[in-house]
Parts: sequence; C-alpha cells; structure tokens
Amino acid sequence: MKMRICDAASFSLALALCVILSQSADVRALEYLPGVEWPEPPVVTPADKPGGAPSDAIVLFDGKDFSAWNGADRWKIEDGVAVVRGGEIQTKQAFADCQLHIEWSAPTPASGSGQGRGNSGVFFGPYELQVLDSYENKTYFDGQAGAIYKQQPPQVNAMRPPGQWNVYDVVWTAPRFREDGSLESPAYVTVLHNGVLIQNHFEVRGTTFYNEPAVYWPHDSAQPIRLQDHGNPVRFRNIWVRELKPIRGKQVKSPAKRIGNEVKAIGGMQ
Ligand code: MG
Repeated sequence: MKMRICDAASFSLALALCVILSQSADVRALEYLPGVEWPEPPVVTPADKPGGAPSDAIVLFDGKDFSAWNGADRWKIEDGVAVVRGGEIQTKQAFADCQLHIEWSAPTPASGSGQGRGNSGVFFGPYELQVLDSYENKTYFDGQAGAIYKQQPPQVNAMRPPGQWNVYDVVWTAPRFREDGSLESPAYVTVLHNGVLIQNHFEVRGTTFYNEPAVYWPHDSAQPIRLQDHGNPVRFRNIWVRELKPIRGKQVKSPAKRIGNEVKAIGGMQ
C-alpha cells in the first residue's frame, strides 16, 4: 500500500511539473508543423432548430411536393406529410457518400405484427436500412427498425411508439468498384435513431435481399435513395441530404518541429 501511495505521489509531482513546463515560454516555442496545405473548409449555416436542413443540404421533401422524386404518382401528401402508397419512390438525383436526415412515423393504430407492422425502408442503391414499427413488436433482430436488413441488428432499440416521429440521421459511405467490377472498398453506414447511435460505421456486406445472401455487384457509387412500399402506410417528413466531400490537403513541406526560431525537419515528405 505504501508503494502505491508513493507511486501516486510521484505521478502527481510529475503531472504538476508537466503543467508548469507546458506553461513556460520554452515549451510553448516548440510546435509540430505537419507541412500540409489545407483548403479552407466551406462555411455552412446550421438550421435554426435541431433536425432542420443546413444551408448546403439538398431538400428532398419539405411537405410541399415530390419534385425531388420519381415514382410518387400514387403517394399522398397529407398535412405536409408523405404517405407510402402504390410502389417505392426514388430520388431523381443519385448520391454517393452522403448524410441523410429522414423522419418517419409508423401507422396508428398499429396493426399487423412482425415484418407486417409499419414496414418500409430507406435504400441506398440495393442496400436497405430497415424502417419498421419495432415498438413492442418482436421480429427477427436483423430485420427490426434500424437493422441493415438481414446483416446487422441495431445496437439498441430506440423506437418511439406508433404515431410519434422517429428520426434517422445516417452517414453513408458508398462502395467503390474497380474497372474490372471487383470490389475496391465496401459500403459503411453509421445511423443515429432518435439521437441514439444504433449503427457505428458498420461494414455492409452487400445486397440486403429477403431471400438471397449478401453480395456485391458493380454499380456506380452514386445511386438514388429509395423509400420502400411494403404495403403499410408509413409516413415520412423533413427529408434532406448533404453530399460529403472530404477536405483534402497537400503535403507541401516535410513535417517539422519549430523549436524557438529554428525549424527542423523530422522526416521525409509524406
Ligand atoms: Mg423494409
């Protein structure tokens, strides 16, 4: 025990010394210089309210019309809300890596059970993020709300009761294929359900069919986003998407350290 107290005292002393040293002029004069030239990140104005579309978002549905979609002839808009009816709909624009915000509500009163209760889906190309009324409604776990269908259940069930609004915030990384059609990099998906993380950078294994194993076949990385008609009048609202473009820097100098007025390279150009 004595040893432990001694260790703790030594550690505290070392920590105190670090704090004192880090505040000294000599240490502050030491700086790591990555040597990378970065473009300035674009300015984006966030929405006034949580869940609102930021300034660089493409609004897919704001309650007025289906002008961003194909196949919605028979879908209905009721009080600014889109209601599933008569086939799937798909965005006119295709998206590769993107951030999607979509709000959905299961039919009320609830009817049916398992996969027959409030079933729809958000598809990125041939890959489905399940939409289902999973509030006190058991089904196979890799088919409940928030599952990557038949591949991965959500980490938790963050479902709100039928009639209330659920929110999916999705970060989608599209798969890439080589010229010969082979897979270069798989799709990844991160999903928050009502603000709760349910898929964390999950590596998608391929297509998400009911009756076939997952497989990748080559396609353009950019695909329409589709909303499934599974025969249930699921409702959607406030749908927007942002195309994701990583900031890419250029290594213009060797990484270096500045010590006082002197700059010393610490390795070759990367
Ligand atoms: Mg579905």
